[in-house]
Amino acid sequence: MKKNDKIQLTITDMGVNGEGIGKKDGYTFFVKNAVIGDTVSAVITKMKKGYGYAKTLQVLTPSADRVDPPCPEASRCGGCQIMELSYKAQLKYKEQKVKNNLERIGGLDMTSIEFLPIIGMDKDVPLHYRNKMQYPFGRTADGHVVTGFYAGRTHYLIETKNCPVALQGDEKIRQAVCTFAEQNALSVYDEEKGTGLLRHLLIRRGSATGQVMVCLVINGDELGTLDLERSFVAALKAADPAIRSICLNINKEKTNVILGKTLRCLSGELYIEEKITCGKEPLRFQISPLSFFQVNTAQTERLYGTALSFAALKGDETVWDLYCGTGTISLFLSKSAKKVIGVEVIPAAIEDANENAWLNGIDNAQFLCGKAEELFPEAVLQENLQADVVVLDPPRKGCDARLLDTIRKVGPEKIVYVSCDSATLARDLKILTGGADGDNTDSLRLQNYTVKKVQPVDMFPHTVHVESVVLMIKTEN
Ligand code: SAH
Repeated sequence: MKKNDKIQLTITDMGVNGEGIGKKDGYTFFVKNAVIGDTVSAVITKMKKGYGYAKTLQVLTPSADRVDPPCPEASRCGGCQIMELSYKAQLKYKEQKVKNNLERIGGLDMTSIEFLPIIGMDKDVPLHYRNKMQYPFGRTADGHVVTGFYAGRTHYLIETKNCPVALQGDEKIRQAVCTFAEQNALSVYDEEKGTGLLRHLLIRRGSATGQVMVCLVINGDELGTLDLERSFVAALKAADPAIRSICLNINKEKTNVILGKTLRCLSGELYIEEKITCGKEPLRFQISPLSFFQVNTAQTERLYGTALSFAALKGDETVWDLYCGTGTISLFLSKSAKKVIGVEVIPAAIEDANENAWLNGIDNAQFLCGKAEELFPEAVLQENLQADVVVLDPPRKGCDARLLDTIRKVGPEKIVYVSCDSATLARDLKILTGGADGDNTDSLRLQNYTVKKVQPVDMFPHTVHVESVVLMIKTEN
């Protein structure tokens, strides 16, 4: 078999990026646009030793789990990878993905762990759940300014309208921005040359408050003259009166990181508000453009609810919320803890966190700005601060080994790990359970932990991503 050969095969599994997996003549093929249960004809795009890659030409017998995707761009757009799979099958796939990673990468014995069924959204086809969208700018062949998405693994722009996973209402804003750009001859950023002004349109919404933020990411310091910026604000407000905050983000770097560090407010405040209810009372959160905030508010309430129930605080604990973002989990925890200390590396998020504590009248939460792997060891090993419970919610790359070692040296009673990448989660659990070495260089005795419960939560329907909450307690020696 070689490149460009046509093959026919049945898909028996799905890989971590949502690709179909099937066998042909002893070779494993990773097949684009095929779902588990399909029989497809496909063309080989690459051959390696023992395995290859292929692209579906035709679905010969569709899987019982194959559905008509609720988006015309589903197979091209890089945003959603498994939209052609029924939601029920998506959930099963995600559950399996977490289990496999914990077993294969984490080396965990799943028979001794309470692995809870995944918490999905309450809809057969969940749509319109994302409260934050970042649309890159581009131009059509005939020169019109458009916003859209990149095709999977490329920087080729597809003009998508009415993205079905975004909260509704973006279309009129996208249209107003593109019309304004054309009328005022604003240039579009060219990634290769590093020239042109308009890079991304960021829209953030408070799904519980209805507040909208529009942030234009530009390769320059201003949109144009002050008058032009004023008329931009007027055009946006005319398009959608719910817009509370309009700002510019300056990103002059030749990078595919979307946001730069500098912001300029054009109208309103540099933040919007969102409410999250976990338990009885909702808490209010101020969110600024550079701060991380969970994108699916309905599922966030369930995610945080799980983290809180796993922490099962009694009221006398000092809790560390490492990677705390705008202090969301910390503030919920603070209701039933003696004290919560949140650590976060982005200064704007720490400002939001302090503001959020104040907004909600909470005085037993404190926020520190810095790297968790530096601040936590200093605080607990050098300054001897108490740590009864540690909550971890790192970005996809997981925790730094230095942090994991410090936790094992200090030995808090419980660890609640909230993870958006089950592969790095599994790697970190292997260290915390004593199954792998971190980078311990001294002779302090290290505490091992036992994984008690795992709860996957689906925050991102139609994508391959899955969130998990893990409860660990000290292993008894
Ligand atoms: N718990 C929060 C945020 C989770 S996202 C919530 O649910 O909203 C992860 C956060 O970790 C981001 O805010 C990111 O800025 C922060 N972060 C990334 N690397 C970090 C590090 N080394 N130390 C502390 N925070 C870090």
